[in-house]
Amino acid sequence: MENNTPILEVKDLHTHFLTKTGAVKAVDGVSFDIKPGETLGIVGESGSGKSITAMSIMQLISPPGKIVQGEILFEGENLNNKTEKEMRKIRGKEISMIFQDPMTSLNPVFTIEKQMVETIRTHEAMNKKQAKQRAVELLDLVGIPDPEARLKNYPHEFSGGMRQRAMIAMALACNPKVLIADEPTTALDVTIQAQILELLAKLQKELGMAIIMITHDLGVVAEVCDRVMVMYAGKPVEFTDVLSLFDHAKHPYTWGLMHSIPKITDQKQKLEAIEGLPPDLRALPKGCSFAARCKHAMDSCFEVDPSFKQYQANHHVRCLLYENEENEKVVPS
Ligand code: SF4
Repeated sequence: MENNTPILEVKDLHTHFLTKTGAVKAVDGVSFDIKPGETLGIVGESGSGKSITAMSIMQLISPPGKIVQGEILFEGENLNNKTEKEMRKIRGKEISMIFQDPMTSLNPVFTIEKQMVETIRTHEAMNKKQAKQRAVELLDLVGIPDPEARLKNYPHEFSGGMRQRAMIAMALACNPKVLIADEPTTALDVTIQAQILELLAKLQKELGMAIIMITHDLGVVAEVCDRVMVMYAGKPVEFTDVLSLFDHAKHPYTWGLMHSIPKITDQKQKLEAIEGLPPDLRALPKGCSFAARCKHAMDSCFEVDPSFKQYQANHHVRCLLYENEENEKVVPS
């Protein structure tokens, strides 16, 4: 039976970096929940706040960064109130994270075996032999051939795709309930990227974990996500299920992201990047943060900061185009 109780709830999260030149509002009012077995995509350009949201969940924000407001409830308990010692028990065991660069997690001077055995023994009451057996099973699970022999290798002896698989194996060592994947396939070529996404989907089915997929790539979202939150300048600008997003995205920023995905069926298609740069998060302009880059901006967009409005059941959008019914006829362009 499907479990509809969220495993993780993020409520009105604000994470700021308090610098001498002002507060950088890296995450400014993010809310979402995720259920076991679900995949939530968080999408945006670099600097949109998606990775800081992930680091906030893991309680890995260090000064001058600070979670200044909000709650992060894991199985109903607010992680913001946990001590570092308590968080060390949760990280890796209950909530794991994988990164774009596997070398963030893998230490180049130790063999894969040493690193995996240590990770497993940090959280599980196992002797070295049992932990090694578990490491072999995990490498096998993520599709690394001849896992027993491969354990003796150092990370540099693995290909890029194999390193990514080894990192996933380490992240899954203790069957986490939530896996946060931060751009896990960005550095890989398309074939390996497809294999890693397939692997994550297969593991999710087998293990029932919730996955938060952080990416700038809507192609990845289309492959694996159930629901999607699009972020811009620290705020969610659109949040809906994946079908609604691809069928009728509402926010001009999302339309811009869509135009940058290549379509296999259209060889002559011209890919368009979104012109301009995101605003300085220390000094956000008056009005809508996207106005300076938006092809649909109206005079009011430079004056009024849009609220995050429910447009339809399960579809929220932050844009003045939807403030009245007349404007709801707007189509992507
Ligand atoms: Fe564009 Fe205005 Fe909507 Fe902002 S509020 S996204 S500027 S149309």
